[in-house]
Amino acid sequence: MGAARRRERRRFLLGFEPDSTPDAATIVPELRALPATATYDEDCRRCGRLAGFLREVRVAHPTYWCRPVPPFGETAARLVVVGLAPGMHGANASGRPFTGDHAGILLYETLHAYGFASGPVATARGDGLRLTGCRITNAVKCLPPGNKPLPSEVRACNPFLAADLRTVPEGGAVLALGRVAHEASLRALDLAASHAAFAHGARHPLPGRRALFDSYHCSRYNTNTRRLTPAMFRAVFDAVAAHLAAEAPAVAAA
Ligand code: SF4
Repeated sequence: MGAARRRERRRFLLGFEPDSTPDAATIVPELRALPATATYDEDCRRCGRLAGFLREVRVAHPTYWCRPVPPFGETAARLVVVGLAPGMHGANASGRPFTGDHAGILLYETLHAYGFASGPVATARGDGLRLTGCRITNAVKCLPPGNKPLPSEVRACNPFLAADLRTVPEGGAVLALGRVAHEASLRALDLAASHAAFAHGARHPLPGRRALFDSYHCSRYNTNTRRLTPAMFRAVFDAVAAHLAAEAPAVAAA
């Protein structure tokens, strides 16, 4: 098979132009120049592959958000939930994490059951839903083809996640949904991957009485195959809630 044919076949299989992917060495130094507090940049186009894919998706779905998706919820919340990346017809359409897609059904239902969300259903930005003591973000802020960001894209987006996780107060918690979110959270916290291996239901202590909790991602695939059941997800939230209660800041006596 000739080079042109191989290239065309790869483009067909990947769904994007292979050479449009910037390597981490090119993009990460640019991101290091970001202010340490920048949790989001609506105009970020550093991942060429993702920016190109978003352009294509915008043509097919002109009403979709099709930009980096900002975190949702309170700044400096005691709980930060870290997902993987926006879903095509969910967060990428609505412009809010886990809003309008299957993965959001179990997440918002559970957040509401534990008092973190004002309602159990997230349909759109402007639906009136509020989060209390909680913030939701993604390891990668732009929609990746096939829901699979490249490692270089996870690294490129990591300074945004790092800025987000720096706001978690002492005694707070990070809940990573899936292995990619777990590893991205460790990197964002300046910890080596060897610090803690991903395992559903695990609790990993972090500096400052914080803790990192792991869960399988609440994706359609995982919930349909019952790799993650509502009971399993609630058990993770039981552990998160117990941690937050045990580490609640002392209230000064009147
Ligand atoms: S994934 Fe993150 S770093 Fe890459 S273009 Fe989107 S916002 Fe920028």
